Amino acid sequence: MSIRIPPLMSGGLITNYHCTSKCRHCLYRSSAKREKGYVDYQTARDCFRTARRMGCQNMHIGGGESFLDFEGLKEVLRAAQREGITIEYVETNSIWFSSLDRAVEMLGELKGLGLEQLLVSISPLHNEYIPLRKVRGVMAACNRSGLQIFPWVKGFLPDMETLDENVTHSIEEYQLLFGSDYLEDFPDRYWVHWGGRALETFRQFAILRPAKVFIDMTDPCRCLLDTTHFHFDLNGNYIPGLCSGLAIRREDVEHVLPASNYPVINALVEEGMGGLAAIAGLADIKPSREGYMNKCDLCDDLRGQLSRAGWAGSGELAPAGHYA
Ligand code: SF4
Ligand code: SF4
Repeated sequence: MSIRIPPLMSGGLITNYHCTSKCRHCLYRSSAKREKGYVDYQTARDCFRTARRMGCQNMHIGGGESFLDFEGLKEVLRAAQREGITIEYVETNSIWFSSLDRAVEMLGELKGLGLEQLLVSISPLHNEYIPLRKVRGVMAACNRSGLQIFPWVKGFLPDMETLDENVTHSIEEYQLLFGSDYLEDFPDRYWVHWGGRALETFRQFAILRPAKVFIDMTDPCRCLLDTTHFHFDLNGNYIPGLCSGLAIRREDVEHVLPASNYPVINALVEEGMGGLAAIAGLADIKPSREGYMNKCDLCDDLRGQLSRAGWAGSGELAPAGHYA
């Protein structure tokens, strides 16, 4: 049996994986060391057109940090307008803020291209790289420009306001102020998906279980077929579910995905972790750790080893920078 992605419900376009920050919870493992590419106008149009054909008319824009190429971001908004896609919001970490006047000018340009809302990241893990002053500046500029603010998340502001807003603060500073459990409790206050860098950060707090426990689970990974939070990226790939590091070519996403071209995704959808472990076994790859926090932790480990080993079928294990 070969699988097929169902109609698309809600999703986003990842403009770039590059980011000046390296947040400990980042699902896409963005950082200053990631590739600097940015989605071009034609790729953005192709992704929006495909999304629209598959039933989705509203999307968001994220990264990486989308504002790192402001002209590129404007091109993406033009591409969305051209393809009849409404942009619900653009995500930003606010690093680009230099002055209120300049920020108002920039946001005014985006508003002129149809943008109504900006998602502003607010959390102590972002504050390790971005001073609160910049975040406040962007929110003030939104107010002046008539852009709605989607604060993600407001609940951390009281904690962050106890520290100097002009500089960044490490999580260790927050732990000294609010308790040693501050990092461990972070996922109770902020949506964290167990993928990417979040695995490395939060594994230390989890009960770890041997790989065999997850390999023996035969339940299929139906989440790969979930289209309520899909993404396309700058490389023209469709990222199924929230499984960062897996990719389906945009040209293929509307069609049946044969196991010959997408062995990992097919194995995961049909056989779960046992299927992926079997593929890894054929390449002589075994779980690298004694314990895993969940099946996604093991999945990321095996996929990472396959990608780094240059496994022949690794076209669906992309971008390579995710596993570097
Ligand atoms: S979470 Fe956002 S701000 Fe942080 S590293 Fe990832 S893309 Fe950058
Ligand atoms: S085990 Fe892998 S495919 Fe399944 S949900 Fe987790 S990351 Fe996605």
